[in-house]
Amino acid sequence: MSSKHQEKASRLRQQVRTLWHQMNADLERVMTYRSLLKGSIYRWEHKCGRQGCHCASGELHVHWVLSYYDRTGKLVKLYLTEEEHAILHGPAKAHKEYREIRARLVRRHSEVMALLDQLEKAVQAKLPERRRKKR
Ligand SMILES: [Zn+2]
Repeated sequence: MSSKHQEKASRLRQQVRTLWHQMNADLERVMTYRSLLKGSIYRWEHKCGRQGCHCASGELHVHWVLSYYDRTGKLVKLYLTEEEHAILHGPAKAHKEYREIRARLVRRHSEVMALLDQLEKAVQAKLPERRRKKR
């Protein structure tokens, strides 16, 4: 095999190793989560529209809202109490991170596979050159 091919192969191996280390770190990280909540939590400030309510003078009503998709794919919104918010905002944030790490793992996995395909080509042994036999 030519030294050019050797160099290419060793560069590819190094890229695979780098990705592998990154994936390993992501896997370790993703396994540390102990409580995940599917859905997002946001602060909703609004005016109710009732005459004479404090919100009319700018002191808005504030709610924590949990939104998520149920099994049928329907968007569900729930008001959370302060206590529920205190308990659930961590798991909701963790779930978002979890999904981001998972997506990165999928991306890196396919990068590794593409590199392995290139490596396979780079280290392909040459067939012996000889005339084909006529049949
Ligand atoms: Zn109001």
